[in-house]
Amino acid sequence: MKAISNIVTVDVEDWYHICDTDDQVPLSKWDKCECRVKKNVEKILQALLNRNIRGTFFVLGYIAECYPEIVRMINGEGHEIATHGYSHMQVYKQKPEDFKSELERSKHIIESISGKALSGYRAPEWSIGRRIAGNNRKMSHWALEMLAQSGFQYDSSIAPLRIIGTPDAPTSPYTIKTRYGDIIEFPPLVMSTFMGNIPIGGGWGLRMMNYIDIKNTIRRFNQANKPVLIYLHPWEIDEDLPRLRLPLAKRFACYGRVKNTWAKFLRIIDEFEFTSIQTVLSSYDHTQLPIYDVHSL
Ligand SMILES: [Zn+2]
Repeated sequence: MKAISNIVTVDVEDWYHICDTDDQVPLSKWDKCECRVKKNVEKILQALLNRNIRGTFFVLGYIAECYPEIVRMINGEGHEIATHGYSHMQVYKQKPEDFKSELERSKHIIESISGKALSGYRAPEWSIGRRIAGNNRKMSHWALEMLAQSGFQYDSSIAPLRIIGTPDAPTSPYTIKTRYGDIIEFPPLVMSTFMGNIPIGGGWGLRMMNYIDIKNTIRRFNQANKPVLIYLHPWEIDEDLPRLRLPLAKRFACYGRVKNTWAKFLRIIDEFEFTSIQTVLSSYDHTQLPIYDVHSL
């Protein structure tokens, strides 16, 4: 029996695209920052090529606009290209009309370079869903309606996690019903623990957790015939990563054991089968996925 294919995704952004650092590197100064993303994307592409894996790359509109050759490189290797928005601002900090114009701007830029229609979106910092910070509930389900309205097929922005996401959201792909049509949601891999879910599919969770725990979790999902989704940022594998000044918790989330990222990532893609979101999506009978109303998330 063929092993189930999991999903590998890359958020194509550079080292200065960390949310809430406008005081250090506002958008108006991004063009003064050293471009390091290209060589890191090249390294990822080579690793995927060596393993005959084609994944999904969520490209930031700003990166596509400034460095169209990066989109051409990814496209040339046969990977799926999707959008990560334009300015890397969290969705719940945007007005709906600004979200829509960013979405369409990034889609237009990327499509005009690749020549292919894109169908997927990922929000910066998993910023769609119900996140609870202090007493603030930050809802952004309207963004899912706009994605459906703009013809997107899928989203990958709702983390089933406390603090940054919707803690009780599903941990495997599901259908979201909106008044403009359905959106298929692809959540990141998490490991269920007594403290709640831990984001082992990427970021600090991937770097901090034992490999054996990550491996066993992927196995459990796959044995239940469910794909898992992992994610990587090009800056996480940069050997000379320039570091921004961040508050302690964010510094830990972004830079804690960052040098472990690449080896762990390679170990996972060596051990399991991986492909793109679009490949998994086209193999699905959508009617068999669990269905959620957009307002329940
Ligand atoms: Zn991002």
